[in-house]
Amino acid sequence: MNLSKESVWNELRKVIHPSSGKPVTDAGIVQNVTVGDNSVHVILSFPRSTDPLAGPVKKAIVQVIQSAFGTGTQVTFENVTKKEVTEESNQPEALAQVKNIVAVASGKGGVGKSTVAANLAVATALQGYRVGLVDADVYGPSVPKMFGAEELRPVLKTENGKELIVPIEKFGIKVLSIGFFVNASDALIWRGPMATSALRQLLTQGEWGELDYLYIDLPPGTGDVHLTIVQEVPVTGAVIVSTPQHVALAAVIKGISMFENAAIKVPVLGLIENMSYFTPPELPDRKYYIFGKHGCRNLAEKLKLPLLGEIPIDENICQDSDTGRPSVLEQNTPVAKAFMDLALHVMEQVDIRNKTMEPTKRVIIKH
Ligand code: ADP
Repeated sequence: MNLSKESVWNELRKVIHPSSGKPVTDAGIVQNVTVGDNSVHVILSFPRSTDPLAGPVKKAIVQVIQSAFGTGTQVTFENVTKKEVTEESNQPEALAQVKNIVAVASGKGGVGKSTVAANLAVATALQGYRVGLVDADVYGPSVPKMFGAEELRPVLKTENGKELIVPIEKFGIKVLSIGFFVNASDALIWRGPMATSALRQLLTQGEWGELDYLYIDLPPGTGDVHLTIVQEVPVTGAVIVSTPQHVALAAVIKGISMFENAAIKVPVLGLIENMSYFTPPELPDRKYYIFGKHGCRNLAEKLKLPLLGEIPIDENICQDSDTGRPSVLEQNTPVAKAFMDLALHVMEQVDIRNKTMEPTKRVIIKH
């Protein structure tokens, strides 16, 4: 059997937690799993830090993994205490009715992260979900422009003595961006604490209400803003956007290790390849791999992560960004279809994380 996060998760379902009688995956004992070439790292959380069942459960986990993937498979464990877990799920009040928070990240700038975040958010709303988008790209907020909302300003109101920021509503989604509060040209001077505290306000004072998905468009790379967000907001998972170019892919690996770092522990839901190929309109069956062929696909395979989408290069994407209308709104174009498929795959991975869907039922883009 192929060693992957999902196949390991499936095996772990066979281990029953003796006191609850439930699989350890459902009893909240297994918090996360990361898979290497020939190794499995399991993060566990027991109700008590000195749980007498910890030993037998770990033994059973090693047994099922080694019998499924070979006795040479190395299994390591990490314990997080219940306290840490509770703190993690300590959601700010403004986000209390937000079911899922998905961070959209990229290793480096210019790969189309904001374009993907905007279209992914609109695509999710087009499938009937309640969606919000936070533009946390404090150093280059582009969401106001992409939504044709540069002139709009969110309303501030006070409710029960609390100040609230009412998001802009456009194309069926709620949007907040630092760009609504500063001139784009001033954004660059927003450094460190100022940027992070402004962002914190958008997240914790935004009047988000009930949402199925809140997408966060992160700044490129790794840094303070990422840390602030993951520490203060219960992020369900991160998706990482890249082009197929080698230099972009190298930065992806850095991004993944940041999210999987023990201090951050945000699961990476998968990779998104943007600017995958170019299809001339007059040759709809041809694909030209301008930035290299299947770079993200191959990397995703190597890292045992799902490839969530492949978005073609299309001049309309550029124009649509400039005219303030996300491309996914043009129904039935190849680009719109690519974004709709992407949204389905992202939601599917979120369902798997939430354990509302069997990992085996997922549909990953065929390689
Ligand atoms: P990032 O957020 O990673 O810095 P942006 O989303 O701002 O990148 O995109 C950078 C530029 O590339 C923008 O001009 C955008 O319109 C363009 N772009 C993004 N994706 C595509 C694509 N698939 N095809 C054509 N142009 C794209």
